Amino acid sequence: MNTTNHAHQGHVSECLSLLHEILQLWPAPAGTEPPDYRCRLRPMLANGFSEVDLLQRLLGPGEISATRESPGRVEIEFYDSERWLQKAVFVDVGNSAFKLLSLTFQCPVCFGTGENDGEVCGGCSGSGWGAT
Ligand SMILES: [Zn+2]
Repeated sequence: MNTTNHAHQGHVSECLSLLHEILQLWPAPAGTEPPDYRCRLRPMLANGFSEVDLLQRLLGPGEISATRESPGRVEIEFYDSERWLQKAVFVDVGNSAFKLLSLTFQCPVCFGTGENDGEVCGGCSGSGWGAT
């Protein structure tokens, strides 16, 4: 595994354009997704991607809220067209090619903290993102 620190800069903009491309194909509200969107999305999805994430219908990205990059991983938080905060996680699948690992909305119960009244949030099992 390549864990050099100086070689992981600069993948954010690449992942942002990938995100735009993916969201063009994403199932939209009102059932207007391209009929073959699964086939067309597949090459951009990492092996660990859960198809459950495709069940949420979203349009976007609107405003980008935050980006984080660590070796082999880029996270992009953005607001979709309905102002839900979403988080896209991209991972390096080799040869510096990035693919989408997950795309989840911020938990509406705990707002991403993973805690609710001092206890592990039941809405997201403490992850702060997505629903369980
Ligand atoms: Zn939660």
